Amino acid sequence: MKQLMIKNGTVYTDGTFKRARVIVHKGLVEQIILPKTEVDESNFLKVVDASDSYVLPGFIDSHVHFNDPGREEWEGFYSGSRAAAAGGTTTVFDMPLNSSPSVTNTHILEMKKKHVSSRSWIHYGLWGGITAANVGDEEELKGMKEAGIVGFKAFLSDSGIGDFEKISKDQLKEAMIKAKKLHAILALHAEDQDLIEHYTSQLLMDKRTDRQAFLNSRPPSAELAAITDALKKVEQTKVSVHFVHVSSPHSIELINQYKENGFDVSVEVCPHYLLFDEQDFLNVGPLLKCAPPLRSRDMVEELWKCVERGWVDIIGTDHSPCPIQMKSEGDQNIWKAWGGIQGIQFGFQFFLQEAMKRGFSIEKLVPLLTSNVAKRFGLSEKKGDIQAGYDADLTIVKMNRQWSVNKSNTYTRHPYSPYEKLEATSKIMATVVSGDVIYENDQFIERTKEPMDVSAFSGFS
Ligand SMILES: [Zn+2]
Repeated sequence: MKQLMIKNGTVYTDGTFKRARVIVHKGLVEQIILPKTEVDESNFLKVVDASDSYVLPGFIDSHVHFNDPGREEWEGFYSGSRAAAAGGTTTVFDMPLNSSPSVTNTHILEMKKKHVSSRSWIHYGLWGGITAANVGDEEELKGMKEAGIVGFKAFLSDSGIGDFEKISKDQLKEAMIKAKKLHAILALHAEDQDLIEHYTSQLLMDKRTDRQAFLNSRPPSAELAAITDALKKVEQTKVSVHFVHVSSPHSIELINQYKENGFDVSVEVCPHYLLFDEQDFLNVGPLLKCAPPLRSRDMVEELWKCVERGWVDIIGTDHSPCPIQMKSEGDQNIWKAWGGIQGIQFGFQFFLQEAMKRGFSIEKLVPLLTSNVAKRFGLSEKKGDIQAGYDADLTIVKMNRQWSVNKSNTYTRHPYSPYEKLEATSKIMATVVSGDVIYENDQFIERTKEPMDVSAFSGFS
């Protein structure tokens, strides 16, 4: 008996769509066969009907914070990975914070790997951290790389987490030299701390606690300044840099110039920067507080143009959850609210539906959630596409299904979401991880095996 057949779907394979059946055996895509060929359904343990649906490679989210171990009360790998599966995501890369302790040495990394393996419902990779405290410790950085990490993450502004110190401008160069030497990609949260402090101190002196004050404290110029400085250092060090959650089109344009000049730099944009704007933040408040903050409508429109021009490499959710009280504490004083948006379950599908409403072809969008991520992080021989021999990580999505997001169908630990406000016109029908259908028609189905740790695939020679 073979593991699975998906029939009647429109299947994404090698950049195009085909009406085809996907045959899965032993966790891998065995064959993609055209509808006319006879197939005996009784030879399959499971058959999924994907009528009126796209069959896509499982989404790969290179930017999540599941906060596990140490802050499971904020999310945890169990609930986070199930919510991811319900959103069509089959692989996540978890950041070195806000699990506690932060992943800044090999011992903590190994501990986290053990902890996560039995809890995750989907494949995962782990990022290692470079901070002010470990940037000089070459042995630990090397140890983490050898134990298997997606890459290193560093902050150029305060991270909000005590044991994950930002690195200074001088330390950034040191971090780049070390990452380059270890053939590791360096992911940067790029906002200029000096500028943020300059604006914030003035706002605090004026006793500002309103939402607009938060926007004023982290203007697009603070992001552009940090990215400009980092790119100059990329020129000197030739390191591979991945800029996470870039929020302003000017930053992306600059990064693209470096890309065109042959530097190995990439851009991640999060769904919330494309789906919401600063007016939404002013209206909704803490639920939409994130750093960098949401931008003006004009900038959001320009950001879509960056996607159109192919200047955005990857869409990642930057799922950064917390208990609702940590949001509501900021209702009257925005500085008190946790900064982070819950995007793991709904970010990608709302991105897809909005982009398609704007006239993007689905062929152009799928790579941003799949093959581009796989290529950037060394997984493209097994993931990011549907081809014979690839891991059978699949997402079945209907693009014409009306429904609404509410607490009962939100599977993050804390079932609130800014996406509740939006009208859903697309729906994830089923999610397949290594051939196991783990989510189908709003139900979770127990996994038969532990998912893979894909951290070690990333690296550059
Ligand atoms: Zn993040």
